[in-house]
Amino acid sequence: MKDFAYAKINLFLAVTGRRPDGYHDIASVMQTVSLCDVVTLDAAASASPSATLTCSIPSLPTDSRNLAVKAAYAFMERAGIAADVKIDIDKHIPIAAGLAGGSADCAAVLRMMNDAFSHPLAARELHELARGLGADVPFCLYGGCAVTRGIGDIIEPCDPLPELPVVIAYPHGKISTADAYRRIDETGASQNAPPIAPMTDALSSRRLPQIADALYNVFESVIDADSEPIAVKRILLDCGAAALMSGSGPSVFAVAENDETAERCRRALARHGYDSVISRPTPSRAI
Ligand code: ATP
Repeated sequence: MKDFAYAKINLFLAVTGRRPDGYHDIASVMQTVSLCDVVTLDAAASASPSATLTCSIPSLPTDSRNLAVKAAYAFMERAGIAADVKIDIDKHIPIAAGLAGGSADCAAVLRMMNDAFSHPLAARELHELARGLGADVPFCLYGGCAVTRGIGDIIEPCDPLPELPVVIAYPHGKISTADAYRRIDETGASQNAPPIAPMTDALSSRRLPQIADALYNVFESVIDADSEPIAVKRILLDCGAAALMSGSGPSVFAVAENDETAERCRRALARHGYDSVISRPTPSRAI
């Protein structure tokens, strides 16, 4: 079977506290977009559990360090199933880019494993299992648009981003998520977060100018003003789109009012040497 593992963007992202276990609490509005990895899974009952992975990107580990493999083993253990699982990932979501590609692959494997074995796990159990695999995995199980709290695992669906083009730009270089959280702790940047309600209200209004005003990502405040994500954001704003860095970066997305503006963004990014894709919001799905 085959599933699309959609990337997520954060329309709003505040860090609300640090937990004793080292995780951070967040308040976020997440939206899945059509940029996706294509995950294929084949599972056949066997005497002992095994999971192997092939992937279109050679730099990614294909052993149990890969979240897709981890998901297959975790599912079998929880459901009391032994199977020979073969997974293939055709990777399109850039790695460590703030787009939750690994979490999306992980969630796709959980969904497909549950389907392949006729739903041995109830939605709540699948959600719990997802939570243990990563903070963004529960959201990626459902996708669509949602307010997420806790470590990202408390999910409340909300009105989605209107059906507008979403340009995803790939600045060069990497940002370590752990380092980004460390900078938030050191600078106390989390204390100045605006409320989340203007974003959910803006989504309900379906008006792009209101959504643009409510875009917020605390991680933008802890990166240098002359860094690539900020330069990329400026290019997108100059094209007349609403733009924000996603997650802990470095990806930057832009919501455009129409295809023409999206195309203008893509061309301007290309002129400055940046790759990008034009995607669309995707709806939530039942698990
Ligand atoms: P995070 O914010 O959790 O770092 P991200 O969206 O920025 O997530 P991902 O593409 O999910 O970034 O990758 C984060 C890390 O997870 C990478 O270091 C990568 O090696 C590891 N990883 C494990 N499995 C996968 C996978 N299937 N796809 C991508 N990365 C994976």
